[in-house]
This record gives sequence, structure tokens and C-alpha cells, in this order.
Amino acid sequence: MANQQNEKLIKIGVLAFRGTDKALSRWQKTAEYLSKELPAYHFKISPYDLPRLTRAVKNNEVSFVLTNPGHYVLLESKYGLSRIVTLQRKFNGKINTRFGAVIFTRADNKEIYTIKDLKGKRFMAVSPDAFGGFQMSWLELNKQKINPFKDFSEMQFHGFPQDAIAMAVFNRKTDAATIRSETLVNMIEDGVFKEDDFRILNSQNNRGAALSTQLYPEWPFATSKNTPRALAKQVAQKLLAMPENHPAAISSRTAGWTVPLDYSQVHELMKTLSIEPYNIKPNTSIKYFIKKYVFWIISSVLFLMLLIAINTFVARTNRRLKVTEKKLRNEIQEREASQVELSKYKDSLEKRVADRTNELMSNNLSLQRSQKALHDLVDITIDTSLTHREKLTKLLDTGREYYQLPIAMLSSLVSENERICTVSNDQSINVKNLQPLSRDNAQSIIKKEDQPLDIPDIENNHSNMGCGGRSMLKSYLATAVFVKGEAHCILEFSGLSKRDKEYTQWDHNLLQVMGQWIGSEIEKQLAVDEKQKHRAELYRVSRINLMGEMAANIAHELNQPLTAACNYSSGCLRLLEDEEYGNEKVKSGLKKTIESASLAANIIRQQRTFLQKGDNQMQKVQLNELVKKLVELISTEINRKSIELKLELEQQLNSVYANSVQIEQVILNLIRNAIDSMKNKKQGSKELNIRTEQYKKTIRLSVIDTGSGIDEKNKGKLFNAFFTTKEDGMGMGLSISRSIVEAHDGVIGVNSLEPEGSCFYFELKTQK
Ligand code: ADP
Repeated sequence: MANQQNEKLIKIGVLAFRGTDKALSRWQKTAEYLSKELPAYHFKISPYDLPRLTRAVKNNEVSFVLTNPGHYVLLESKYGLSRIVTLQRKFNGKINTRFGAVIFTRADNKEIYTIKDLKGKRFMAVSPDAFGGFQMSWLELNKQKINPFKDFSEMQFHGFPQDAIAMAVFNRKTDAATIRSETLVNMIEDGVFKEDDFRILNSQNNRGAALSTQLYPEWPFATSKNTPRALAKQVAQKLLAMPENHPAAISSRTAGWTVPLDYSQVHELMKTLSIEPYNIKPNTSIKYFIKKYVFWIISSVLFLMLLIAINTFVARTNRRLKVTEKKLRNEIQEREASQVELSKYKDSLEKRVADRTNELMSNNLSLQRSQKALHDLVDITIDTSLTHREKLTKLLDTGREYYQLPIAMLSSLVSENERICTVSNDQSINVKNLQPLSRDNAQSIIKKEDQPLDIPDIENNHSNMGCGGRSMLKSYLATAVFVKGEAHCILEFSGLSKRDKEYTQWDHNLLQVMGQWIGSEIEKQLAVDEKQKHRAELYRVSRINLMGEMAANIAHELNQPLTAACNYSSGCLRLLEDEEYGNEKVKSGLKKTIESASLAANIIRQQRTFLQKGDNQMQKVQLNELVKKLVELISTEINRKSIELKLELEQQLNSVYANSVQIEQVILNLIRNAIDSMKNKKQGSKELNIRTEQYKKTIRLSVIDTGSGIDEKNKGKLFNAFFTTKEDGMGMGLSISRSIVEAHDGVIGVNSLEPEGSCFYFELKTQK
């Protein structure tokens, strides 16, 4: 065993006709014998069935082959196998080097006695290429004109082991069978069957009971083509030298080996039966054919099925294609028809598009025109440099140009027969002769409210609406202007010739807008008028108020000159009674009386002038002059209240364009407030400073005091109406002053001063 690794493995392929186990147990000892005799090698038995053994030889897997003579002949001719020894057996004390096959049936079979009786019966053998297991008997059957592949009701090839075939006959699984005669003899010897269990057909009497065929040379021990000749020779020598009672011989049921026999008899059999290597068609049975060519048959069937499937698919696809083609053809026809329709439609569409484009372009043009007119109207309305009247005139003129009519008029509905505004670009028309629309005639326009009255041809106008029967007018466009929800006036545009057609919706809309803007302009103006009226009233009330205060002053002021006048008069009287004093003293007394009375009269005159309502006239005013006049008026009060007055009046002061009475009132208000602010002052000086100054075109007048000053929290409210911190105050003085200054396009304001007092000022533009 230790050497086994160095030994070269030599495989002996053995045909295991009785199964692998039996083959191994039968030939193992022979392999051991050879291994022992030729220690450089390790011989190994490799059992195969027929096809596998053929493949093993073909693939050079085995060095030696032990097989039946038929198989050997095939391997010899195909793969160059050559026999080196032939097996010999001992039978009935005699050495045999040949063997045969047996054809048998059950001994109790009442139908089969000869080979001919086998026709139409079930027959079993090893395989078509088994030499002892079929081919030997086949030749015998052939000789008696029985074709095993046609004449049996069933030809079964059971395969190895042959023992199973004998058992099948015994068990009636088949009617008759053939196996190597030695196998049956061995089975009987082994006690598996009894000798009289079976009937031997075609018995070769001279050779012994269990033999139905002629004898053929025993199994050869052959060497494969590639086995070294020296080894083959050594093996042949050792096998020939094996004694017939050697354990290996006993185990293999042989009587050792003899020189290689002649296998020509086998060749003959092969030729007669046309078996490989002399094969023409060894087997033509359908079953055999099917078994042999099963792969090709299945492949062909599958291929055929595939062909059919492909064919069906192609046919179906073709059918579908035809249907689709038909559909497509129909579709193409339909498309062609609709294309014709489309091209017809396209022509009419192109025309419609062209018409519509023209229409849109003209619409676009009129849209652009009305957009421009709208812009112009907006510009006019927001232009603050224009007066109310100027605005109305411009609005009317813009509308007249837009509608391309010569006359535009705004007739009042509030006061009968009043033309608020009239515009014309035609010199030949005397607009003053054009009667404004009467309220009665305007009714039809007012009722239409948001739709203008548009009469392109007055002479052929069949509607009930009219333009007031003004014969010179030939075409007419009008809308009512509403102010605070009431019809206030009529906006009219008139032509001296008729028009072809009515204005567009755009034009009507624009007229409505124009009417609305004029309405809001008028409304604004009415509000301004109302405010001015209100302010004048306030101003009057405020003056009356001041008058109350001044009345007390007058009484006080007049007291002294009148008392003086009375005293001087009584003195004069006394002097006249007393002649001693003469005329001169009387004259002087009377003179002083007149002076005192004049002073009193002057005071009264001044107060009256101030209290007069005053006209609203704007005029050139010198602020310095106004200040001086007012100071004169209040000088006595200032003196009485121990207030130190300081005037800082700029010499080169331009005049302003103002209502002098109103500006006077503003200054007086500021002075009175300044005096009031120092009323309760106990410590420090009471100073009142009135200053005028000019910077470029602005004149500023400031009234500065050293009074209580302005509480920061009240600063924003001082100019509001009715704001006062005084017990008896009205809170109207600064509010009115602001209205007046702002009406003069000026500003009014206040600054707190450090450490005390305040500075109230207003600014006005110098005269243009
Ligand atoms: P009235 O004099 O009736 O109170 P005005 O409108 O003239 O109304 O003044 C409003 C308020 O402004 C005054 O009550 C006072 O509180 C404040 N005021 C006006 N002038 C001065 C000033 N020179 N110094 C301090 N406070 C002033």
C-alpha cells in the first residue's frame, strides 16, 4: 500500500453483463493478481455497460478491455483494440474456450416448443448489441426465418444483468428469452432455478442442455491502441501463466487464460446480421428507431412545431397587415377629402382674418386716439397751475378736437339760460348767439344717464330726443354732467354739418369719462367756493370777537383824553367867567381840549376801520406798513402791560400781493397771543419783538415773545380749530390765521425759544 502512490494506475474496462457488483467481485482478484505480478502497476477493474465501455475505449480511458466477442470485434475494427489472450472455462471437467447462448421458455409453456413457435410471442433479450445476450440467438432465429424485430408480438430489450431476464421468463413477464448459456447454468448451479424450470429451444444436444446456438470464442482480454506494447505483452504473459485453479480464476469462474483465439466466426455473424461494423440497418423496428433517434425526432417535431407557429404567426400578421393597410387606405382617402375641405375653408378663413385684421386695425387706431385724448384729459385735470375756468375750457377744447366738431358747450341746469363755458374753433360762429340748452330740452339727455345722446343727422332724426331746436346745428353729441348725484349741466358737442354714422362705443365711453371729470371739477370748485364763504364768515365772527375785547380797551383808552377834554373845557369856562386871565389862557385850554377830543375821535376811528367787514380785494401790501399801523393801535395796551416792544423791520422789503385786512388780522392775532403769553409773567422782562425779513422771494414776519412758550405735547395741535389753553379762549385765532396764510399760498409755523418764549411766523411770496 505504501508503494501504491508510485504505482501507475492501469484501468481494465470490463463489460458488466451481470451488473457492476458482480463484475467487480468476479474480476477484482484478476486485477489484484496482475498488480501483484506486475508491481510497477496498480490494475483496477472498471465495470461498464456496452455503450459506456465503447465510449471509454473511444476516449482512451482504459488500457485493457475485457468484453464479449461481438463487442470486441466492433471495438477492434473501430478503435484498433487487439486481443492478447482469450478466456477459458472448465465445464464438466473439460477446458472450454468457446461459449454459446440459450433460448428458453418456461417448462410449463404449452405453446412454445421450437423456435418457430416464437412467432407472435413476447421475447426478451439484453440489448440489440449484446453478443451473448442477443446476437448469437438472432443468427439462429434468422436461420429459421424469424425476424425478431417484426415477428414477435413484443421484442423487449431488458439490459444487463442477464439474471433478471431469466427471472422475467420464470415470472411470465415474457414468453421466451435468450441469454448467455453459461449464465443460466450458473444460476441453476447457484440454486436460483431448478434444471427443469425451463425448456431449452433449438437445443444443441451434443453440446449440453443449456445451449441453443453454435459456439463462439470466449471473451478476449484486449489491449487498447495506446497501451504500451511491453505492458500488453507482460499482462498477456502473466494471464497465460495464471493457473486454472488460481483464486483469481476461481473467483472469475474461469479456468485461466489461453492464447488469443480466432474471432472470424464472430465477424461472420456480424456480416450475416449486418451488425456494426458491418451494419446496414441492424434494427428497423419503429421502437428502436424512435429510441435511437429520439433526440432528432423530438428536435424535428419541435422544429416543425416552431415552423408551424412561425407560419401561423406570419399568416396572422399578414392578415392584420392587410386589415391595417385597408384601414390606412380608408384613412388616407378621408384625409384627402378633409384636406380639400380644409383648403376651401382656409380660403374663406383667410378672407375673414383679413377683414377682422382691418377691423382690428381701425379699432386700434380709434383706441390709440381715445388713449391720447384720455392722457390729455388727465394732464388737464391734474394741472394745478390752471384755474377752474381754464381747466373747463381746456377740457372742452380737447373733447371738441377729439370728436372733430366745431362747438363745445357746457350749459348750466342750475341757473336757467347760463352758459358755463363755450368753446369754438370756427371764427364764423358767434357762440354768444347759441342759446344754452333749456332744462326742459335737457330732460331727454338726463334720462339717458350713462348713454350719451348721439344724433349724426339732426334733420333726419326720428327719435324724440332733440338738441333744443337750434336750427344752425346739423349734428349733435351730448351727455349730462352730474354733481353730487344731481344733473348739474349738459356737456354738448355740435357740428354744422351732418355726420355719416354714430360715434363708436369708445367715443361714447370717453364722453362719459369727460362728463364725470367735468362733474368732479365743478364739485371741487363748489367745495372751494363753499370753504371761502365759510372762511369769510369765520373771519367776520372772529373780528366781532376781537371787537368785544377791544371795546373794553376803547373805554379805557377814551377815558383819559375825554376826562382831559372835560377838564380843559370846564377850566376854559371858569377862565371865561374870570376876565383876569384873558384870552390867551382860554385859547390854550381850548386847544388842549380839541387835542384830547381829537385823540379820542382818532381812537374810535381806528377801531371802526378795523371792525369794518372789509372787502376781499387782493392788492399790493407793504408788510412793514401794516405792522406800524397795528403797533399804533395796540401801543397803549402794550405800555399799560409794561411790555417792551422792539421792531426789527427790514428796510428793503418788497411788497406782497395780498388781502391787507386778512393779513392785518393774522399779525394782530399773533401779537395778541404774544401779549397773552406774558400776562402772568412775574419775573424777568416782558419783551415783544416784531421782525420782518426777506430771503430771495420770500418774506417772513415773526412775532417773538418771552412768554410761557409752547408745551411740546401741544405743538401739533396749536393750529387746529378750537384748540386753546386759555380759560376764556376760543381756539380760533391760529386756525383762521393758517387758513388765511395758506389761501395766500404761504406757510405759518412756530418755534419754541430758549430759555423762554416762542416765535410765531408766517411767510409770503413777494409780488410777481
Ligand atoms: P386762543 O387765543 O383763543 O386760545 P389761538 O388759536 O389764538 O386761540 O391760540 C391757541 C393756543 O395757542 C393758545 O390757547 C395758547 O395755548 C397757544 N399760543 C398761541 N400763541 C402763543 C404764544 N405766543 N405763546 C404761548 N402760547 C401760545
